[in-house]
Amino acid sequence: MAEIPTVLITGASSGIGATYADRFAGRGHNLVLVARDKARMEALGARLRDEKGVTVDILQADLTNPGELATVESRLRDDSQIGIFVNNAGASLGRTFVEQSTDDIGRLVALNTTAVVRLASAVAARFVATGAGAIINISSVVSLAPEFGMSVYGATKAFVTFLSQALSLELGPKGVYVQAVLPAATRTEIWERSGVDVNTLSAVMDVGELVDAALIGFDRREPVTIPPLQNAGQWDVYQAARQAMITGFAQSHAAERYRAAN
Ligand code: NAP
Repeated sequence: MAEIPTVLITGASSGIGATYADRFAGRGHNLVLVARDKARMEALGARLRDEKGVTVDILQADLTNPGELATVESRLRDDSQIGIFVNNAGASLGRTFVEQSTDDIGRLVALNTTAVVRLASAVAARFVATGAGAIINISSVVSLAPEFGMSVYGATKAFVTFLSQALSLELGPKGVYVQAVLPAATRTEIWERSGVDVNTLSAVMDVGELVDAALIGFDRREPVTIPPLQNAGQWDVYQAARQAMITGFAQSHAAERYRAAN
């Protein structure tokens, strides 16, 4: 792997992905940008080549299309220059569960979960073989909050948070860093694309601030980075409460409250 590895970023045509592209180019990394909108990526790539002096490859792909997803998987599997993978492409769905069409839900799950895990799978074996590499998975605070009423989106992000934490435990000892980034509302096109006016939300972070904070977490090798969480101790308490349950799960008998009354 090169000394300054190439970074492949999905969802790099706008928002968080485009900002990661800008920041990693600023750190001297060559880039591979993936999304559907080729013209936007070409424009971003031209600016970054010009301003930052890095090379930028454009890979147009709809990650819900199995054939196009396979092209990106191959690139991650075979390109030994790629040492950082930003697993960022994602979307949301407006309205309530019963108002969302089953096909729209299927497409959201394909993009936010199937593509995310297939791409991580494609790159992980090569990273483990070299004992290096980093995977940044963009999840969401919604993954921790069923109360937000974003049932399917939140469920897909819970998948991403869990996968990241589990892969961090599994791949970390093999030299591969896995980070989950959990933004809260951030000013990007995702809101408009899902039919929500971002200006109706009460607190929205600028995308540059979000990515810069996430990169501080990256540099510290945090497994989970939640930029808007002011009190880091709350996450530690939450983790400790969850881990305290684990030791009690192995039981030959149901808990007292589930035993039939005689
Ligand atoms: P965004 O500006 O809408 O960016 C989404 C990116 O994903 C775009 O580059 C889009 O590019 C790409 N994309 C969408 N569908 C795709 C598909 N089928 N195939 C390939 N690429 C696709 O929104 P964003 O906020 O930056 O979202 C990035 C990530 O952050 C998502 O995973 C999102 O869930 C997460 N997130 C966002 C927020 C927030 O408030 N903004 C909060 C928490 C988490 P094309 O349209 O060109 O394909």
